[in-house]
Amino acid sequence: MRLIVTEKNIAAKKIAEILAGGKLEQDSFYKIPYYIFNGDTDEKNMVVGLKGHVLKVDFPSDYSDWRKVKPSDLIDAPLIKEATAKSVVRTVKKLAGEADSLVIATDYDREGELIGMEARDLALEANPDLMRSVKRARFSSLAASEINEAFASLGELSEPLAMAGEARQDIDLIWGATLTRFVSLATSRLGRQFLSVGRVQSPTLALIAEREHERRAFKAEPYWVVTADMGTDSERFTATHKEERIWEEERAKEVFEKLTGPGTVCGVKKRDKKVRRPAPFSTTGFVSAATSLGFSAAAAMRVAEGLYMDGYISYPRTDNTVYPKSLEIKSALETLLGGSLDTDIKRLLKETDFKPSRGKKQSTDHPPIYPTGVVKKGDIGDREWRIYELVVRRFLATLSVDAVSQSNRIDLDVNKEQFFVRGSRVVKAGWLSYYPYSRKKDTEIPPLEEGDTAELLDKHLEGKETQPPGRYGQGKLIELMEEYGLGTKATRHNIIQSLYDRGYIHGNPLEPTAMGLKMAEALQEYASHIASPEMTSQLEKDMDAISIRDRTRDQVVETSRKLLREAYGSLEENQEQVANKIWEGITEDSILGPCPTCGENDLRVIRSKKGKRFVGCKGYPECEQTYPLPGRGDIVALHEACPECNTPRIKVLTPRKKPWVICLDMDCPTKDEYKRKKAEQEKGRKTKGRKKK
Ligand SMILES: [Zn+2]
Ligand SMILES: [Zn+2]
Repeated sequence: MRLIVTEKNIAAKKIAEILAGGKLEQDSFYKIPYYIFNGDTDEKNMVVGLKGHVLKVDFPSDYSDWRKVKPSDLIDAPLIKEATAKSVVRTVKKLAGEADSLVIATDYDREGELIGMEARDLALEANPDLMRSVKRARFSSLAASEINEAFASLGELSEPLAMAGEARQDIDLIWGATLTRFVSLATSRLGRQFLSVGRVQSPTLALIAEREHERRAFKAEPYWVVTADMGTDSERFTATHKEERIWEEERAKEVFEKLTGPGTVCGVKKRDKKVRRPAPFSTTGFVSAATSLGFSAAAAMRVAEGLYMDGYISYPRTDNTVYPKSLEIKSALETLLGGSLDTDIKRLLKETDFKPSRGKKQSTDHPPIYPTGVVKKGDIGDREWRIYELVVRRFLATLSVDAVSQSNRIDLDVNKEQFFVRGSRVVKAGWLSYYPYSRKKDTEIPPLEEGDTAELLDKHLEGKETQPPGRYGQGKLIELMEEYGLGTKATRHNIIQSLYDRGYIHGNPLEPTAMGLKMAEALQEYASHIASPEMTSQLEKDMDAISIRDRTRDQVVETSRKLLREAYGSLEENQEQVANKIWEGITEDSILGPCPTCGENDLRVIRSKKGKRFVGCKGYPECEQTYPLPGRGDIVALHEACPECNTPRIKVLTPRKKPWVICLDMDCPTKDEYKRKKAEQEKGRKTKGRKKK
């Protein structure tokens, strides 16, 4: 009997269905389902899914007390592997005992190789005879053709690839645990409020902090813009003075004064510009596109992983932006027929020469993300559909042709000052007709010829200011992380999530809290290694070296321990300064704004010993003003007063809910509407309750 182990149950079911080609039985052990079928040669097969990692690397339990163990003792502490999903472990062992051959069919990447090797070791514990017959199935999608092919040409597990995954796991644990405990203890932030430091997390935070410093250092410069509303018999348009930004107010006023009509067209220019079709989707490209549709990076990956499991798209963790030769574009396109995007697909089938665009990165493990199955809108959730459609449309776009956009410019002379109006429109849609997401709206300009005149209808002089560089959105940050080699396609979105969870950043685009800024500053000052991307990208290179047997896992982990000892030493020497700095940030974050009662002091968030929180005045005991706070969610000061009650307004952030902006005074009229709704809900609930009785 052959045992097949996949990464998750849903993949096990899918693979069993494909390989069985019909008759399939299901059984379970300790509530873990597995699937049984007879293969071509009448051999019995069993397929079972893991729950991702079923083992976790950790320190022995005598290291678990934060107060008793010195954080630095963790650097050289032994590492053990513990079962995290005991019933899965039992099931794998039971099935392995009955099997005479084993196929590892986990995801095809470092992580999957490691998960596969862990599963193999569990199986061998139960049945050492399996050693001679362990095989590896590698596939990038759960499409039937690919699964069948993978099982027809089974390979071997790659020990070095798994070791690279294991080295990362160990290093992340050692760094993360040691430094997290150090800063949490140094600042006495224990329990639920602990502060974390991480090998990838901290340099990522440093990137966000750096941008914030740039914004704060930015000096806005004033400039002026002069515009003229002009018109012909049929059309009205707005022209801008050719200097666009006029830096001297005097000069701007002079132009404005001189602005008396009419205007004469003194130049008409048309220029065609090629708009290149996009490259195939790597994880980074995909996440970036999905975030501009309103998904968070983590949500986009979650949805994509679900679609992969259901066989609708290929494996979503990939750096590759070049479709492999083995991918048969035409049949891949035809596979998509019969869904809700048929009109576009049929049109493309007639137009395309099946020569797709290519991106800059080419790798051999996985293809770029492309659709592998067909589904109709409404047959999957709305969010799933939007991501699926994005992947399909991107695939279509990469097979279409470049678009052409025409930019037009008309120059007008108005009393010896030059004004212009610009427009642009797509003259050949090409790929834009399949991928409307990045298509800008056409801006038409009037059909004027040289020498034509236009009346001056109105004129404006506007004062403006230059703007600081914008904060990063999640998509942009993921692109930057890739550029600096921070994290992997599999981890980047989770790293960003943990920055939110630990209270270092909030909002989208990402804004650091004062605590986040101070944390980054403290690390930069006292252990600059930890906050810099170089160390992390070096480790990425070491991982690659392990996977091609240039270095061993132990060598890489040992080097990393040495670096950590240095960084730790420096932090420990400056423990007080580190703690003070972080506390400065925490204190700053707790200040909400001036107290309207005494008008002299600030209001701030106070936590009682029991962990309850409320708002109190810094002037206590002279001013006894307090306000209640919602029990859950992060509180962010908006540094603005409520126009009705004059108390500071705050934003309450609860995971997976829309941020909620409120002022502090419970009796403020702005809360009337909310109270009325709540009362109605209460009433509704009560009547319902009565009916039940
Ligand atoms: Zn007060
Ligand atoms: Zn109010």
